Amino acid sequence: MQKDSVAEHGSPGHIITTDVLIIGGGISGVIAAIRARETRVDVLVVEKATVGWAGQVPAAGGWIRLLTPEDDIDEYVDFHVRMGDYLGDQDFIYAAARRWYQSIKQLADWGAPIMKNAAGGTEIFRNPYFDNRYGFVRFEPGKIMPYLRGRARASGVRIVDKVEVVELLSQNGRVVGAVGFNIIDGSLKIIRARATILASSSCDFRVQRLFCSSCGEGIASAYNAGAELRNAEFGNSYGPGIKDYDSFSRGIRSMYYFNALGENVSEKYRPPEVEKFTPVVLGMAREVAAGMGPIYLDLSKVPANLRSQVRPPDTMVYPHSFWHMYDKAGVDPLTTKLEVVPTLFGKHSPIRVDVECRTTVPGLWAVGDSSHLGSGFAGTVPGSDIPGWAIAYAVISAMMAAPSAARAVSYAGAPAELDTAELARLKETIFAPLQRSSGLVPDQAFWKIQELVYPVKYNLVRSKERLEEALYRIEKVQGELTSLWAKDSHELMKCHEARAMALCAEMIFRAALQRTESRGSHFREDYPARDDVNWLRWVTLKKREGKMEVSSERMPIDKYKFKPESMRTGEQRGAA
Ligand SMILES: Cc1cc2nc3c(=O)[nH]c(=O)nc-3n(C[C@H](O)[C@H](O)[C@H](O)COP(=O)(O)OP(=O)(O)OC[C@H]3O[C@@H](n4cnc5c(N)ncnc54)[C@H](O)[C@@H]3O)c2cc1C
Repeated sequence: MQKDSVAEHGSPGHIITTDVLIIGGGISGVIAAIRARETRVDVLVVEKATVGWAGQVPAAGGWIRLLTPEDDIDEYVDFHVRMGDYLGDQDFIYAAARRWYQSIKQLADWGAPIMKNAAGGTEIFRNPYFDNRYGFVRFEPGKIMPYLRGRARASGVRIVDKVEVVELLSQNGRVVGAVGFNIIDGSLKIIRARATILASSSCDFRVQRLFCSSCGEGIASAYNAGAELRNAEFGNSYGPGIKDYDSFSRGIRSMYYFNALGENVSEKYRPPEVEKFTPVVLGMAREVAAGMGPIYLDLSKVPANLRSQVRPPDTMVYPHSFWHMYDKAGVDPLTTKLEVVPTLFGKHSPIRVDVECRTTVPGLWAVGDSSHLGSGFAGTVPGSDIPGWAIAYAVISAMMAAPSAARAVSYAGAPAELDTAELARLKETIFAPLQRSSGLVPDQAFWKIQELVYPVKYNLVRSKERLEEALYRIEKVQGELTSLWAKDSHELMKCHEARAMALCAEMIFRAALQRTESRGSHFREDYPARDDVNWLRWVTLKKREGKMEVSSERMPIDKYKFKPESMRTGEQRGAA
């Protein structure tokens, strides 16, 4: 086990040394930690909240898509690629599909609390409103993260809670650790690592309470370290949110949205094959623009024979769920009409990775919601849009990255010597908001950023003119962030969250401006059609000389097995 050292007087902070550093202790981070530790390397997880309770999974329903050995991989990849509007990286999707079953089975073999059937085997759920061909497994509500924390600790993984990681440390173009601070006592933390795995989630812009731990600091730090980003324009997941309740409806409930004339909007816009939010929220926006709003969820219209399916058993009503919120408010959604509005989830997850979840920067891997879109796993589908993909990706990507990062430890050499001048500069930047006695408070900064990413006009129904306006305004906000003011370490964390959120907003708007077509969650009013001739391309972003450089790269669609209809040969069409 590596030794920690408290830095000598005059040096800038508490230094921790490890083989594999994992930033973020949500589901992908802890699984990667346990898996890496199995190879006997030293593993450290650094989490800004508390591992075991942090991340999205404790509040999540936990539907995890499963591929079984009986499922035909080619058939599944065909389905997956179509769901991602042909923008998926088929090399990655095949790699994920081949490891899918094994990754989830590994969790079950560890003894993770996955729901069992009467015979004691893993229960495979089917849901006709999601897509019935491929099953799901589910975690036992509330149990998985404490279980994983315990298993990680028992296997010798070191865990440091309450540390906000702000930037990655680089030397000669290689990531060699990270720097952050303790959000309780404000002490600086410097971590030297031979391999670093980012598991710090997407940027969800703190719009909804349930998604507020994800502000994109990991994505911002990867970008600042020179990592390439891909598919940022699809980091705009909107769902049909219930006004005033921070909640949304899935499954059977998503079939009962009505416009002001009483017409069923779900039937009009929901694709028949699988539940996806984007077509429905775009449809809702269209109805409202045509004067047919507001839209309501009206569960009183559920036929008597289906009513028992609407509310899950009480054992599955997890904290903050749709039902939990209404129970608390004393509202019965079965009899009360509830207004529905397009609600931003964000899910900006653009760090580009290969089939081992390596980023384009040596020494750095990215898993879970930080690279969900950037891996090309999802094509145009932001996490959460297709039920069960997000946790499945978190598990699979963690299982891909951990052995790769652990292997890299052996050839990474001794942990890098720290560049004291660079550390001093980082320390000054990190703590600058605490040195001010007035300025912009982080909650105001959040509000200014949310005012740009949330409105439908900028981020759901896009146009060149409005994207340029949004970019102009976000650059202005970024200017104001130089005066961020924190009264304590907790506010200091919020300052860094705000900085990351503004950078992530810029990424989304710049990429969206580049893509002059409509596809998946990216809808351009000025280019309303999908354009397979010109846009089977990935939009990429990279920091160059302090600026965000935007490019586009033709996908290797010719070598891929699954092509859009317009590109198929007569023989392929016949076979389809
Ligand atoms: C209410 C809800 C329901 C959901 N239901 C489902 C579902 O049924 N099926 C499904 O597939 N998906 C679902 N999801 C999505 C799924 O939970 C996420 O995709 C998944 O948790 C992502 O895992 P992760 O490890 O990448 O990120 P997270 O679980 O978000 O964990 C990231 C961790 O990194 C930490 N962190 C962030 N920044 C820093 C930093 N700078 N320094 C240190 N630590 C940091 C965070 O505190 C957090 O603990 C749901 C999400 C929510 C919120």
